[in-house]
Amino acid sequence: MKLGKYSIGVGDRFTLQGKAQLSAIMKANEKGLEITPVWNKSNREHIYVGTVPADTRNEADEAVKALNYKGAYFVDADHINLDTVSKYVEMSDFFTLDVASFIGKESKKEDVDAFVASCKKYMGQLQIPGIESPLNITDELLHDVAGKFLAATQQAYEIYSYLKKEKGEGNFITEVSMDEVESPQTPIEMLFILKMLADKGVPVQTIAPKFTGRFNKGVDYVGDLDQFAKEFEEDVLVIDYAVKEFGLPQDLKLSVHSGSDKFSIYPIMANVIAKHDKGLHIKTAGTTWLEEVIGLAVAGGDGLSLAKKIYENSYNRRDELCAPYADVIDIDPAQLPSIEEVNGWSSEKYANTLRHIPNHPDYNSNFRQLIHVAYAVAAKLGDEYTDLLTKHAEVVGSCVEENIYDRHLKRLFNL
Ligand SMILES: [Zn+2]
Repeated sequence: MKLGKYSIGVGDRFTLQGKAQLSAIMKANEKGLEITPVWNKSNREHIYVGTVPADTRNEADEAVKALNYKGAYFVDADHINLDTVSKYVEMSDFFTLDVASFIGKESKKEDVDAFVASCKKYMGQLQIPGIESPLNITDELLHDVAGKFLAATQQAYEIYSYLKKEKGEGNFITEVSMDEVESPQTPIEMLFILKMLADKGVPVQTIAPKFTGRFNKGVDYVGDLDQFAKEFEEDVLVIDYAVKEFGLPQDLKLSVHSGSDKFSIYPIMANVIAKHDKGLHIKTAGTTWLEEVIGLAVAGGDGLSLAKKIYENSYNRRDELCAPYADVIDIDPAQLPSIEEVNGWSSEKYANTLRHIPNHPDYNSNFRQLIHVAYAVAAKLGDEYTDLLTKHAEVVGSCVEENIYDRHLKRLFNL
């Protein structure tokens, strides 16, 4: 199974916006892009929202049928592990093997020694085509990398083997993710992670490292843009080298778990992939749910009232809502408007505060981040929430489509 050069993960908490998402993708494809949609949803999201993997599959299939879309598309079991993978086997054809929690777990000494020995030919000054200065590969570095990543890649092998047995070789896309950790992986580490995966026969097609900088949920990138650009380009070059050197799948590419809306690094990524003629997978999960709330606010009346209720219910539960996302949320409580204040807002004021237009005078990233993690609040509202989404489907859908097309695809692919 091939993913295609460009692909986008459009996570959708409530599985109601498949058509609007696909419509944005088809609009980009009409301009000649050829980007593949992937509907991704993590186990964590399914649990909070109360959906099951079949819902994501139905959402994708229905959108494809309704819009008469003829291209390839996938359903991604996002961030699964050996404990959670089984219920996704039937409905998914893309699996994100999350092995982050195995980073740093001890491996057998003989395995570490065997890995280090297998890297003898790379020791010394290793020149990766395109990277200016050679990488300095020492015995110590190799031991360090093995200590950090051998157990994690072994775990990827175990999940992959399970899937291979259940679904058959070649019948699914394999992604390996290590992004939900504190410290970024360097391009050198990426090189040897890929060697480990190749040694173990894991045909990884997308790899999601942790990049330098902060990837907070739903807001822009925070970090050193030059450093990111350097690291991102080196990762792309390392992957190119690893594909040839270790015999990994030809179409192996980076997967950027963006946490949505990393507008300031989109042009950097666009330049690098264009410069080296490489592919990219980008996950923008979460963005769609915020557009639903914006759409309800824009609809006014009962929609706006519900959008206000979601804020009210989130404001008082913010510690609990933010807890699972502690590493990727930076809310300054002093910058959050009071419930009374928000209850007095117009449709426009609410939408402009939440919508991600960074230089808009009403935009408030604290407000946006809180709503971003508040989908559990909407899930608890149940039909009250989803019935209004259906009632205001047109305005909500246009917000979802505009967001993916105008704010994401246009920036990422210079449309
Ligand atoms: Zn991730």
